[in-house]
Amino acid sequence: MSAPFNFSAGPAMLPAEVMQQAQEEFLNWNQLGISVMEISHRDPVFVRMAEQAEQDLRELMAIPENYRVLFMHGGGRGQFTAVPQNIAGPEDTVDYLDSGIWSEFAIREAKKYVKHVNVVAGAVTTEQGKAIAAVNDWQLSPQAAYFHYCPNETVDGIALHGVPDVNVPIVADMSSNILSEPLDVSRFGVIYAGAQKNIGPSGFAIAIVRDDLLGRAQGNTSTIMDYTVQAAENSMYNTPNTFAWYLAGLVFQWLKRQGGVAAMGRLNQAKAAKLYDYIDQSSFYRNPVHPAYRSMMNVPFLLADEALNDAFLAQAEAAGLLGLKGHRFVGGMRASIYNAMPMAGIDALIEFMREFERNA
Ligand SMILES: *Cc1c(COP(=O)(O)O)cnc(C)c1O
Repeated sequence: MSAPFNFSAGPAMLPAEVMQQAQEEFLNWNQLGISVMEISHRDPVFVRMAEQAEQDLRELMAIPENYRVLFMHGGGRGQFTAVPQNIAGPEDTVDYLDSGIWSEFAIREAKKYVKHVNVVAGAVTTEQGKAIAAVNDWQLSPQAAYFHYCPNETVDGIALHGVPDVNVPIVADMSSNILSEPLDVSRFGVIYAGAQKNIGPSGFAIAIVRDDLLGRAQGNTSTIMDYTVQAAENSMYNTPNTFAWYLAGLVFQWLKRQGGVAAMGRLNQAKAAKLYDYIDQSSFYRNPVHPAYRSMMNVPFLLADEALNDAFLAQAEAAGLLGLKGHRFVGGMRASIYNAMPMAGIDALIEFMREFERNA
């Protein structure tokens, strides 16, 4: 079997080039004779690497000067707590769009820290599939401390394309779509992402915070989750996940070599279009999402005959196509096709799907 293609939703595949480089320098980083994991985060060599990673991310996303980039603990869900604690007061109102499973988890967490969590709208079922209520139908609160949404619902495969026109600071959970295409960061108050889909190892997170939103943390906010403290300490209030930071830095350099997010966006578009087109022309497979709300990163699909699911997954795995099982909440299949997935992976998947249908 040739090298497998890994369609896992997360932790997801990382660029082979990055993994190879990490392996080569694993025992001897920067000619120091030790691993990057064995050096103090205060060592100037480490600090230089950490600053370069931030610089590269800033360049890739064209992050304006008035935003702080924070390297945080606790993955995506850690930020579900950090956002309400840092950006809202306990008596405030905050708005959440409920477009899928990750939004729901974020809402549940916000309710612990903020009194009024207003769900502005949710997912809707249309004749053309699952979709998100139109912006005109959202019940926005004029006084909300922020508006939170998840532009790419990883489990449901539903995406909200384009930034919604909302007059309060916009907070976005971009765990599964950060760096996948160009983005106007200046439209946002906070962008955050757990790292394990498009950035690096799990347990790590990046928060990009507009600086006027600092200084508002609720008094009982855990210090390691306090944006203001982490901004003041350059994300080194306590020991950061140094290995994850390093690996993220390698991924950022890899992205720059690929031509940045503009090039990634074109490739991601082409990858997703090819897979959706194949699914749409088939009566054996189907995608349950309205075409205008389809994710470019996570492509769920169902077999017309669900009794074949186990056979599909077993044969796919035998063919080196890994991680295609849909999330346990929704079933079916899901192909996660983040930045590191090459077009060859899409071609191999489509070929397998065609072959499976022929033999069924
Ligand atoms: C994966 C994911 C999360 C959760 O990340 P953890 O690091 O497991 O906490 C949150 N939001 C979205 C959109 C995700 O895809």
